[in-house]
Amino acid sequence: MTVAASTAALGTSAAFAQAMVDEKDAQAAALGYVADAKRVDAKKFPKFAAGQNCASCALYQGKAGDKAGGCPLFAGKQVAAAGWCSAWAKKA
Ligand code: SF4
Repeated sequence: MTVAASTAALGTSAAFAQAMVDEKDAQAAALGYVADAKRVDAKKFPKFAAGQNCASCALYQGKAGDKAGGCPLFAGKQVAAAGWCSAWAKKA
């Protein structure tokens, strides 16, 4: 399956059930995505700090309390609220 296929087409709608991002997907591996921020490799990603996860990321599109939500870096799939990747950016 190609990962880079469409980053725009599916947009931000979470109205239908979407597959979860697999950590082994090429895009996920490239970004160091893990479904549980507790498993972030701190040696590989020294900028990671406790408290960072998809739910606290500016790019996360899930609502507070959701277990998963969209992320524009993974169009058409959902990332775990407890997940993390190296593109994490503090929510404003
Ligand atoms: Fe999670 Fe943010 Fe990375 Fe998307 S960019 S996978 S919301 S940490």
